Amino acid sequence: MERLLVEPFYVMKVLEKAKELERKGRRIIHFEVGEPDLPVPEAVKRKAEETLRKTELRYTEACGIPELRERIADYYEKTYGVKVSPEQVIVTPGSSPGLLAVLKVVSEKLGRISYPDPGYPCYKNMLKFLNAKGEVINVESEEGFKVTPEKIKTEAVILNSPSNPVGTVYTEEELKRIADKAFVISDEIYHGLTYGKRAPSILEVTDNAVVVSGFSKFFLMTGWRVGWLIVPKEMVKDLAAILQNLVISAPTLSQVAALACFEEECLRELEANVETFKKRRDLMLSGLKEIGFKVPTSPDGAFYIFADVSSFTEDSFRFSFEVLEKAGVAITPGKDFGYNKTERFVRFSFCTDERNIEEGLERLYTFLRQR
Ligand code: PMP
Repeated sequence: MERLLVEPFYVMKVLEKAKELERKGRRIIHFEVGEPDLPVPEAVKRKAEETLRKTELRYTEACGIPELRERIADYYEKTYGVKVSPEQVIVTPGSSPGLLAVLKVVSEKLGRISYPDPGYPCYKNMLKFLNAKGEVINVESEEGFKVTPEKIKTEAVILNSPSNPVGTVYTEEELKRIADKAFVISDEIYHGLTYGKRAPSILEVTDNAVVVSGFSKFFLMTGWRVGWLIVPKEMVKDLAAILQNLVISAPTLSQVAALACFEEECLRELEANVETFKKRRDLMLSGLKEIGFKVPTSPDGAFYIFADVSSFTEDSFRFSFEVLEKAGVAITPGKDFGYNKTERFVRFSFCTDERNIEEGLERLYTFLRQR
C-alpha cells in the first residue's frame, strides 16, 4: 500500500467497495459508519434558518461565540455538577482540530503522551503528524480494554470514555486513579450515549485535565462541525492562538444553531434517542452472540460493538471484505484501531435502524453457515 504521511482510515476502503457494489445494484447493510443516523433536532434547524436570513455569518471570536461558551459551561454544571468558567470553554470546528491543538500544547509542555491500542486511530495519527512522541498502551480484552494507572509511563495520557471502538465506560474511581498518575486528555465525544451506566467526566475528579467533546454524537450534528474543549485556564491563550492560526473560528452558523441544543425540549428529545440506541445495542449484541461472534466487552456506551472473529479468520481485514462481498454487510476491520491483536477484531456500528440490524444479522448468519 502507498505510504502516506498519516495513515488513512482503512474503513474507507470498505466503504469504497460498498459504494461500488451499490452502484451495481446490490443492497448493502451498513454497520461500518461511525455517525448517528437520527435526524438533527428541528429546533437546531429552525435556529439555523433564522440565523441564515438575519446575519452575514462573519468569522467569530477564535474561541467561539460567548453565548455558546456559557451554555456549554452551564451544561457541565447541570450534567456533572462541576463548575467551569466559560473562559475555559473553547469552541472548535468539530472536536478533531481541538484535539490536534491540545496534543500540540500538552506534548510541548509534558513530553510523551500515552494512548490506548486498540483505540481511536486519530490519537496515534495526530501525534505522528505533529512529530510529537506517543507511547502506546496495549489495552486488553480481559481488562475491558481499559487503561490502568500501572500501565502509564508518561506524564500525559489520552482516555476515551465511552470508547470507540469498544464502548468501554470508565468509573469515577478509575478516572481518579488515572488522574492521580498523569495529566488526562479526556475524549468525551460519546458522552450522553450510555446504556444503564453513567459516564463521569474527568472534571468530576480533577480540575487539571482537558475535555475534548462536541456536538457530533449525542447531539447528532456531525456535518455541522462544532465541538469544544474545556481546558485549565493557563492553556487557553496557547490554544486560542493555535486555533486562530489553524481554523480562525468554528462555522458561525453551526455555533449559533448549536445553542438550540440546550433548550429543555431539545435536550429531552435528544435524551429520548438514547433509548433507541439502547434497543439497537441489545438487538445487535444478542444477535451477534447467537450467530457465533464473541464479544469480550459489551458496550456500555457509544454505538459500537467490538467483536472477536478469531474463530472465523486470522485476518479480520480480509474477513471484512469477504463479509462485504458475500453477505453484503459492511463492517470496520480491527486494523483501523491499532496493532494490538486487532487482526482478531472487527467493529460493528449500530447507527442504523432495527430492521437493517435484523437483516444484517440474518445475512451474517447465512454467510457463516455456508462458509
Ligand atoms: N473522538 C472519537 C473517539 C471519535 O470517534 C470521533 C469521531 N469519529 C471524534 C473524536 C471526532 O469527532 P468530531 O470531530 O466530529 O467532533
